Amino acid sequence: MPSISDYANPALRDFKAYQPGKPIEETARELGARADDIIKLASNENPLGPSPKAVSAMRDALECAHRYPDGGGYYLGEALSKKLGVPRDHLILGNGSNEVIEFLGHAFLRDGDEIITSEHAFVVYKLVAKVFGAKTIEAASPDYHHHLDAILSAITPRTRLVFIANPNNPTGTLLSQAQIDGFMSRLPENVIAIFDEAYFEYVDAPPDTLRFVRDGRNVVTLRTFSKIAGLAGLRIGYGIARPELIEILQKTRQPFNTSSIAQAAALAALADDEHISKTKRLTTEGRDYFQQKFAEMKLRFVPSAANFVLVNVRDGRAVFKALLNKKIIVRELKGYNLREWIRISIGVVEENEKSIAALREILANG
Ligand code: PMP
Repeated sequence: MPSISDYANPALRDFKAYQPGKPIEETARELGARADDIIKLASNENPLGPSPKAVSAMRDALECAHRYPDGGGYYLGEALSKKLGVPRDHLILGNGSNEVIEFLGHAFLRDGDEIITSEHAFVVYKLVAKVFGAKTIEAASPDYHHHLDAILSAITPRTRLVFIANPNNPTGTLLSQAQIDGFMSRLPENVIAIFDEAYFEYVDAPPDTLRFVRDGRNVVTLRTFSKIAGLAGLRIGYGIARPELIEILQKTRQPFNTSSIAQAAALAALADDEHISKTKRLTTEGRDYFQQKFAEMKLRFVPSAANFVLVNVRDGRAVFKALLNKKIIVRELKGYNLREWIRISIGVVEENEKSIAALREILANG
């Protein structure tokens, strides 16, 4: 009997599905531990939890869960439009910003097309490209930073999309406004630049990419409520681009792709300045703490602008497993060709301190 994969899209044959950070419940089951005792610093989530205003808005929204959501997300769109200073028709909501990456694949990628991203860039770009039969060109990043010249040099007539995460995941590095401006001045008009700004709100003076959207360039800026707003479990993010581009993406969107609960929560979280600034402060302090400890421990790390730090522990898998045995989940990065490294998300003070203590013990015994 032929294998089921013989009937499947041939593009799907030779790659593995996305490996998310290990869930708390799964870890608790495997270790015979209580979920409450597990520290998860594996998925760059908000350790303070969701915005309390969002939780309250969700409770209210539950009463209307029998109705389909407003697929276009009118109220959230209006609020985002006001906050960002772009008209409503420049926005599209996604089931997480990940879904907007998928819209881009549907809209712009065909068999044999190419996307470009950096080596060690967020792996979802490559996975989405694969599904659509497109090839991913990875520009070298020997010092873990984006090399925009290398990206520009890799452009061919088949290049459709260039993905630049800023700050980047998993390295945490940040491009400056001058670097982005220089890049945009040399990017051919027919190539779409995607600035993935999932960690935008953690940056003190983040570069502005919306100026290119306003100028009518082929630029899509991606943002999310999964990180600083603490709504990762709800799946809601958005893309910002010129209206002609958004109109194309809208055709690839399922009618009710974001839930009414998620829309209500995002709307409330957007206005919760207190939760956002509290999270940012905690993150900055936690990041300083980790980086200072790594320096003391003589561990190489990449200075981060986001809510996680990439640190070289010589054997990422072994240290990941040893930490797991101590009920701490971090991220190993073999899928990113970073086998010597782990990525650790910033937690609350106690979680950070416990993680450093555990890491010291593991490295002293290893
Ligand atoms: N882009 C980057 C760079 C990310 O790190 C992540 C989350 N890991 C996402 C996008 C996806 O976020 P969302 O939850 O909005 O789909």
